[in-house]
Amino acid sequence: MEENITIKTDSSTQIGLVSYCGFYCGACPKYTKGDCQGCKGESPKCAVGFKACKVRPCCIENGFSTCADCNKFSSVKDCKIYNPLMIRFGQFITRTNRRKGIEMIQEKGESEFVKYMIDKNWVTIKNGKQ
Ligand code: SF4
Ligand code: SF4
Repeated sequence: MEENITIKTDSSTQIGLVSYCGFYCGACPKYTKGDCQGCKGESPKCAVGFKACKVRPCCIENGFSTCADCNKFSSVKDCKIYNPLMIRFGQFITRTNRRKGIEMIQEKGESEFVKYMIDKNWVTIKNGKQ
């Protein structure tokens, strides 16, 4: 039992489950049920839908692990690819903010981000609950 907890909270093994846009796919029911391999696997089944997502191909083309590696903007807030209307609307309704995930990765690194998200069991950072 304790061994399982150790594995689950080992952030180094979970880094590959950080999405390009700042989600933690490891806490997503689609991932835990085995329906999706996460954003860095084949054909991710996230709410955005990988075919509609422009962030994933942009990061892949640039060789970035996430948008946190990108220095085209001082903040992802200013990137139009990162902030399509559908995402802004969805986050307003769900009171979530994936940008804060990218900012946390920039500030503390992917490993600390993963630890934080495992602790909260969050796919994305929730406004006002940090
Ligand atoms: S929105 Fe794009 S980058 Fe984010 S998890 Fe979905 S496929 Fe990956
Ligand atoms: S911040 Fe924008 S330009 Fe930079 S990698 Fe992300 S989607 Fe691409």
